[in-house]
Amino acid sequence: MAETQTITVACKLKVDQDVAKEIDDTLLAFSSACQWINQNTPPTLANKTAMQSLVYKEVRTKFGLSANLAIQAVRRVCANRKTAKENNKPVKKFSATSANYDGRIFSFREKDWTVSIKLLNSRPRLELLIGNYQRHLLKGSNPTSATLVKRKDGTYYIHIQLEQSIPETEESDQVLGVDLGRTDIATTSEGESWSGRKITDKRNHYSKMRAVLQRKATKGTRSSRRRCRELLQRLSGKEKRFQKWINHNISRLLVNNAATNNLVIVLEDLTGIRERTNQQPRSKKDKRLGNNWAFYQLRQFLTYKSLLEGVKLVFVNPAYTSKTCSHCLHIGERKGKRFSCNNCGNKIDSDINGAENIAALGRLVNSPGGTGLSCKLSLNNKYVQLFSCLTTQGC
Ligand SMILES: [Zn+2]
Repeated sequence: MAETQTITVACKLKVDQDVAKEIDDTLLAFSSACQWINQNTPPTLANKTAMQSLVYKEVRTKFGLSANLAIQAVRRVCANRKTAKENNKPVKKFSATSANYDGRIFSFREKDWTVSIKLLNSRPRLELLIGNYQRHLLKGSNPTSATLVKRKDGTYYIHIQLEQSIPETEESDQVLGVDLGRTDIATTSEGESWSGRKITDKRNHYSKMRAVLQRKATKGTRSSRRRCRELLQRLSGKEKRFQKWINHNISRLLVNNAATNNLVIVLEDLTGIRERTNQQPRSKKDKRLGNNWAFYQLRQFLTYKSLLEGVKLVFVNPAYTSKTCSHCLHIGERKGKRFSCNNCGNKIDSDINGAENIAALGRLVNSPGGTGLSCKLSLNNKYVQLFSCLTTQGC
C-alpha cells in the first residue's frame, strides 16, 4: 500500500460583511458547543460514537449547528482530549477561531476556484484568493476535509487538507550534492547556484526602510507612531513572503532536476549537530544557519517535495565539507568565494567545492550494501520527520 502524506493548503477567503458576520456566529457556536460538550460529558470519555450518542441532539438544538457541524464538534472534543492526555495536560479552552469541515459540509470547485461551506443558516460559495502555488496543489484534487479559520488580523481562511500518495523512492547511484547558504543560497555539485545577492539587496532595502520607520515610531503623535508600527509589521510579512517564494522556487528546481535525471539529493545534516552541541563544538556555519528560519524552511521544502516526487534524500556529516579539497581530500584554505589547496594547487569556487564534498560523502553513504552511515527518512501521516544518524557515531 502506498504511503500518503497530508498536506494542508491555506487559502484566503473573499468574504463580504454579511458572510463575515455569519462565519463569526458559526465559529462562536462551534466553540461554545465544544466547550459545552467538554463540560457535560464524563472527562475520560474520548470515543466519538459514544460521545455523539450522549450529546448530539442537545448540541443541535442548543447551538443551532447543522448535523455535520455538531458531529465535527464532538470529534474536535475527542481529539483535544486525546492530545491533552498524551501531553498530560488539561484540555485547552475552545476559542471561536476555527471549525472543522468534512465532505458533507464543505466542497471545493476548481472551475472557478471557490469553496462552499455550511454556516449556521446558509451555505455560501466563496472565492479563494490564492496564487499559483496553491492552485498547483489543488488542481485535480477532490478534498473532503478542511478547517475554517479566522486569523488574529480578522481575515478568514480555509485550510484544505489534501492526501497525497508518496511514490516509492527511486534508488540511484547518481547523486546531487547541495550546499546550502554560504555566500549563495544554494550551490549544487553540478555547479548550479542561486545567488544570495538578490535577497541581500532586498534585505538591505527592507532594513533601511525599517530604520526610518523605527525612528519615526518613537516620535510624533500617537496615531503616527501606531501607523509606523503597523507598517513595520507589514514589512516583516513582506520579507518573509519574498523569502518563502524564493525557497519554493529553488526547492522545486532542485527536486525536478533530481526527479528527471534520477539523482539522489545529498544535504548536510545540520540538525544532527545541533542535537549534540555538548559533544562537538558548533561550526561557524551551523551557528549562523542552524537557527535561521529561512534555511530551515528551504530544507523543509526540499524534504517534502522530494518525498512527493519519489526522490531519495541522504544526509551527511557537515564536518570538513567546507575545508576539505574536493580533488585531493587535504585540508585547504577558504577565503570567501575562493577555495585554494596548497597540496594539489586546486583553485575553485568555495561553494562548489563544498557541494562536491557533500556529493562525494553522499555517494559513500548511498553506496549499495550500506555502510551503516546512511540516514533514514521516516513518515508519520502528518509530519515529515527526519531521523538521522551521524557518520561519526553510527545509528
Ligand atoms: Zn587539493
